[in-house]
Amino acid sequence: MTDLLKELVRSWEGEAVVTKYDRPTGTWIFIALHSTALGAAFGGCRMRVYERPEDGLEDAMRLAEGMTHKWAAVEMEFGGGKSVLAVKQPLTGGDRAGLLRRFGHLLETLGGRYMAGVDLGTTPEDMRTVNEVTSYVCGADRNRFPIEDPGPFTATGVLMGIRAALQHRFGDESIQGRRILIQGVGDVGAPLAHMLNDEGASLTLTDIDQARARTLADELGAEIVAPERALEVECNIYAPCAVGATLNATSIPKLQCDVVAGSANNQLSESDDANRLHDRGILYAPDYVINAGGAIAFGMMFKGMRDEAGIRLRVERIRDSLREIFDQAARRNESPLVAARKRVDRVLETARRQS
Ligand code: NAD
Repeated sequence: MTDLLKELVRSWEGEAVVTKYDRPTGTWIFIALHSTALGAAFGGCRMRVYERPEDGLEDAMRLAEGMTHKWAAVEMEFGGGKSVLAVKQPLTGGDRAGLLRRFGHLLETLGGRYMAGVDLGTTPEDMRTVNEVTSYVCGADRNRFPIEDPGPFTATGVLMGIRAALQHRFGDESIQGRRILIQGVGDVGAPLAHMLNDEGASLTLTDIDQARARTLADELGAEIVAPERALEVECNIYAPCAVGATLNATSIPKLQCDVVAGSANNQLSESDDANRLHDRGILYAPDYVINAGGAIAFGMMFKGMRDEAGIRLRVERIRDSLREIFDQAARRNESPLVAARKRVDRVLETARRQS
């Protein structure tokens, strides 16, 4: 282990890191368990090429902590964990299957302390391979996990977050007639656009894949805007559903919206950006709360829920979580990001006291 790997492990505040070097493929496997205060850790397995193994470990640690916050914010009984397969080059065929099975054996030795699922760079097919050697994996068995695509559930959560934000900002959660900018019309943005359109929103869409934006805009009668001009669009809601870090010291002064509420991960470049939004009077729905719908859907299926309507009802509770966060933030005149973090700490502290 390099000195930097050791230093990363030494300085991390999570519970444990499981590290294995997979000799046949030259892959570093990292399983980061951030907190199991609420239950067994549950988070995706990412496979990608990193410049250095240390970058893979850092990614696993950061993402695992993010999962702790996500589960706690929506009060689901799972812990924060994430795994990273830091491959030397993209793997296919037997090499890929071999790595995934050896990763499965490693999961088996943890005895259910961590359950893996699909993430960036892995597929349901990969999870089926892992499932050949361990049951501590989700999304592999169609009988247990009838939903394969989390996107529409994440979109439902975002819709709920938008309602909570509108209620807080205008005293009326109705979407009818609100101008909403959706940045990125992929797996989450497209179903979100359909849901908002059904409720009478006036939509502006933007996507670097201009044909994709155009096709959806034609279907829904929506406006489109070029990606580089998107953040200057006057709107009630800006829903970032593409990439992270769109909110920063340069972009925030330009925003012409009342609310930021979208699915993208890591929307803020730095946590101070939440204060910048707050100072401008723009209500920010913390990303890890509003985008928890897909995770909740998989968590519910893991707990044995098969009924889509029941899963949807649980996802819809994101609205209540965000209402509480917005109310707390307003009472203390702080940003919703600070209020969300306090909520996370409170939920974790209660769980620790009860265990
Ligand atoms: P996706 O890849 O299906 O769609 C993203 C879309 O954004 C694509 O159409 C892409 O062309 C577009 N895009 C990329 N960069 C852009 C830019 N600079 N400006 C405008 N458009 C751009 O991804 P997705 O699954 O819809 O996820 C969207 C975001 O939500 C990501 O940040 C993801 O991490 C986050 N998220 C997704 C889920 C889920 O269930 N899929 C859950 C939680 C968080």
